[in-house]
Amino acid sequence: MKKTYLTPGPSHLYPKIESFIEIAFKKDIGAISHRSKVFHEIFKKTIHNLKKIMDIPETHNIFFVGSSLESMEIIIQNVVEEKSTHIVTGAFSKKFFEIAKDLKKNAQEIEIDINNPNFNNLNIDKKTELICITENETSIGFKIPIDIILDIKKTCPNSLIALDCVSSAPLTNIDFKIIDIAFFSVQKAFGLPAGMGILIVNNKAIQKSQILEKKDVNIGSIHKFSELFSKANKHETPETPNVLNMFLLEQVSKDMLKKNILNIKENIQQRANLIYDFIKTKNTISAFIKNKKFQSHTTIVLKTEKQTKKIKNILKKKGIIVGSGYGKYKDEHIRIANFPAIKDSIIKKLIKKIDKKII
Ligand SMILES: *Cc1c(COP(=O)(O)O)cnc(C)c1O
Repeated sequence: MKKTYLTPGPSHLYPKIESFIEIAFKKDIGAISHRSKVFHEIFKKTIHNLKKIMDIPETHNIFFVGSSLESMEIIIQNVVEEKSTHIVTGAFSKKFFEIAKDLKKNAQEIEIDINNPNFNNLNIDKKTELICITENETSIGFKIPIDIILDIKKTCPNSLIALDCVSSAPLTNIDFKIIDIAFFSVQKAFGLPAGMGILIVNNKAIQKSQILEKKDVNIGSIHKFSELFSKANKHETPETPNVLNMFLLEQVSKDMLKKNILNIKENIQQRANLIYDFIKTKNTISAFIKNKKFQSHTTIVLKTEKQTKKIKNILKKKGIIVGSGYGKYKDEHIRIANFPAIKDSIIKKLIKKIDKKII
């Protein structure tokens, strides 16, 4: 039986990946030089598609790196001389904070009580250079809505904002007027094999990095923004990139555009509603995030406690692999990736099977 992976990254591969890989082999994508004209064209087209699919304005540049944790490190090094602030809602936002500490920054951690989220009076240090926000906290399925991000920006108009949209891009609306930096990895909602991170950086953040460079702050080497920027202007990357994944991203984003990204977003939201509505009818399991406003539509986390093993096995028998809880929640939660690569029929089957066996 062919399995379907509803794990939140790596996740089920985009349906046409196999044929895209075949095309890539025919075109010798794995062998061509990353300084060649053929590569420049792939680079340009991928950026073009990404800008279209995510509504990224001309003020922002797109860089290709290895992963999103790498992006976190690159961001802190480039734009923080002393102080960063981290809105912590779970394991991934915490990781961003820890990376800043490892890089010897004076990092401020603001922990949100996810059972009773309150984003008023966050007491963000006014001198902070960068505010880091995880739009979709994959570890627990907690989403920070756009109006809250706008409010945060209003309280600190001079700080840069970095948005982790790793498990929600391209299914979420990002207001690039207030988001200076955003990043994601391709193994989540784009349904690609892991091994590439996308880093979106505006000119203001690049200027900040250049100021630090002039002040002799250590901003890294091959991934300092000036280097990424000058290479990107030539449609290249500093290192040999994951050319195959770049090609696959070009193909998948083209396919998503053809299907109309608005329709895809709408469908994902509807499927999330279906799952959240269904779970309300059950007595022994529930949504981990109670407040609808903060419930993720792309990574849905259920509090399954004693039923965890049973549910996983019921689904596994039908070829549906769901994610375990993250970290300390390993045996208490299941996580469901609601990404475009997954068919509607699988979501319906998942609901039906759980409904039959769980009260
Ligand atoms: C998966 C994930 C990351 C880490 O991505 P990598 O590609 O493994 O570096 C960071 N943040 C969030 C929210 C994630 O879901």
